Amino acid sequence: MNNHKLAEDLLTSHGLRRTQIRLEILQLFMQQDHALSVNDLEKMVKSSHDRVTLYRALNSFEENGILHQTPDKSGNMRYALCAEGCSGHHHKDEHAHFICDECNQTYCLQEVKIPDVKLSDDYQLNSVSYTMNGICKDCQ
Ligand SMILES: [Zn+2]
Ligand SMILES: [Zn+2]
Ligand SMILES: [Zn+2]
Repeated sequence: MNNHKLAEDLLTSHGLRRTQIRLEILQLFMQQDHALSVNDLEKMVKSSHDRVTLYRALNSFEENGILHQTPDKSGNMRYALCAEGCSGHHHKDEHAHFICDECNQTYCLQEVKIPDVKLSDDYQLNSVSYTMNGICKDCQ
C-alpha cells in the first residue's frame, strides 16, 4: 500500500475528512523517521497553506489520535505519528523520545516504554515524558 492510500485510510479510520492538506501532511510524516515542527512543515508542504491552516490540521490530528507531541531541544513542540491504538483524547504514546545532539532531530522510541513510577497521593499525574539525548544513527 502506498503512503497516499495509507494517509487516506488513517483519516477515514479516525473520522476526519480527507482534504488535500491533511493528506499531504500525513505523507510527509510517513516519509520521515523523526518528528516534525510547524516550521519544518511550513517549508515542506506544497499545497497552498498558511500557518493557521497548518496549526489547525496538526491540532485535529492530535485531538483524533493520529499525531502526538514530542519535545525538542529548545522545549518547543514537534509532532510524530502515533502508533496504533491512539484515539481521540486518549493517547497511548508512553514511549521514550531521543533527541540527537548533532542534528537536533527528535525520534520516537516506540519500543522503549516509560518506566512505571509510583507517585505518592500528594501528586496527581497528568503526563509523563521521558527524553534521552545522544547521537542518532545518521550522525554517528
Ligand atoms: Zn498518540
Ligand atoms: Zn542526528
Ligand atoms: Zn513519540
